[in-house]
Amino acid sequence: MHNKTIAELIVGLKAGDFSSVELTQTYLERINSLDQQLNSFITVTPEIALQQAQQADKQRAAGNVELLNGIPLAQKDIFCTKDVKTSCGSKMLDPFISPYNATTIEKFNSTGAVMLGKTNMDEFAMGSSNETSWYGPVKNPWALEAVPGGSSGGSAAAVAARLTPAATGTDTGGSIRQPASFCGITGLKPTYGRVSRYGMIAFASSLDQAGTLSRTAEDAALMLNVMAGLDRRDSTSVDQPVPDYTASLNDSLEGLKIGLPKEYFSEGLDDSVAKVIEDAVKEYEKEGAVISEISLPNSQLAVPTYYIIAPSECSSNLSRMDGVRFGHRCDNPEDLNDLYIRSRGEGFGPEVKRRILVGTYALSEGFYDAYYVKAQKTRRLISNDFKAAFENVDVIMGPAAPSTAFNIGELTDDPITMYLSDIYTIAVNLAGLPGMSIPAGFVNNRPVGLQLIGRHFDEAKLLNIAHSFQKNTDWHSRGPELFS
Ligand code: GLN
Repeated sequence: MHNKTIAELIVGLKAGDFSSVELTQTYLERINSLDQQLNSFITVTPEIALQQAQQADKQRAAGNVELLNGIPLAQKDIFCTKDVKTSCGSKMLDPFISPYNATTIEKFNSTGAVMLGKTNMDEFAMGSSNETSWYGPVKNPWALEAVPGGSSGGSAAAVAARLTPAATGTDTGGSIRQPASFCGITGLKPTYGRVSRYGMIAFASSLDQAGTLSRTAEDAALMLNVMAGLDRRDSTSVDQPVPDYTASLNDSLEGLKIGLPKEYFSEGLDDSVAKVIEDAVKEYEKEGAVISEISLPNSQLAVPTYYIIAPSECSSNLSRMDGVRFGHRCDNPEDLNDLYIRSRGEGFGPEVKRRILVGTYALSEGFYDAYYVKAQKTRRLISNDFKAAFENVDVIMGPAAPSTAFNIGELTDDPITMYLSDIYTIAVNLAGLPGMSIPAGFVNNRPVGLQLIGRHFDEAKLLNIAHSFQKNTDWHSRGPELFS
């Protein structure tokens, strides 16, 4: 049962091959017996899961079958969940029980999904390896000595190890696509504004977007059908019609124009990863796609631009974690200043502190123009590169990350190299575009992801392109032996 995709589980539930309660029990048992090896969950919610599963079975018996009726899912611990701890991977929020649900959670609840628990993540979604979590690192199910990627590493590892059929993630600079690549699964980051950010704890508000980690593109389409759409409670969510994302999965790719940015295949990319990506792109030629080289000339500005904008926004967003309004409070404060200083000092980990310091500096009087305003200008240049490229091509392809999963501890003392692991994903967030990573092969038994980048609100096309690859290859259906 645990090797089935969401699409297959929907068929099985409908046919009465198993109930949602049986399915949910299977996953809860797997989490219980296998997750000690991975640390992919911060909180497991068996009572809620079984109660939701019973409810789903009852609804089905009554002929009232919602889109995801009875399907178990895991939620990244960045989404507020009523009456369940929402820690965002931080000691700061370890005691936080949200009084309300994020819109995404509400939508899953109202379409019959079952919540298995909340997944581990880098602290406040800052990281590329899941090593910044206060709850300890997550292991990669393909190689337990390796990282799963980050910041949605708990979700990615849980899906790859079949501890859940699929999970949510969030992506500010690559946090869905990079862990999907490292764990050999399918990750979708929708267009900025496609999915509501209400109740999703903010890291960098102009970049954050919720999306999916699943085994297949078809499952991502099923989840996006539920997640996408305008939310009056999020002023940046966009009023665009939501198509049925499963309807166009099988469209022909004849004549599809694919662009390969030369900047994504240059120095810094591991040779064996490059080879996997080149072979994957060739699959599309067989489908009648036309491939050409393109240029995104300002690509080298993406990482420095992001590391001004994201810290600036996070320094502002995290100011509410002060021990008064939100978050950990120190013991016996002497006065108000002492309370702020010690509460924040104790609650935040080193990576979060580093970002707050950089952001506060970049926004301070006298430096604002030189850093923040300048970064907004280079952001526009990066965005314009994509605009120009999409006049000639329908989709951009390249690697999701420059290497396969690195080992735990390998880059912890080298933040700059760590930051570079998002070199191919960050520009997509700066431009607000949709992107995916799909399993494309292996190097030394560690997965490699092919990145697909589309035009704004072109998720249906991306999913079609990804699904077509998955009809012709079986990389996405392979699982790590240890968790078979
Ligand atoms: N790895 C990037 C960072 O550390 C991106 C994180 C994300 O997308 N949330 O900021």
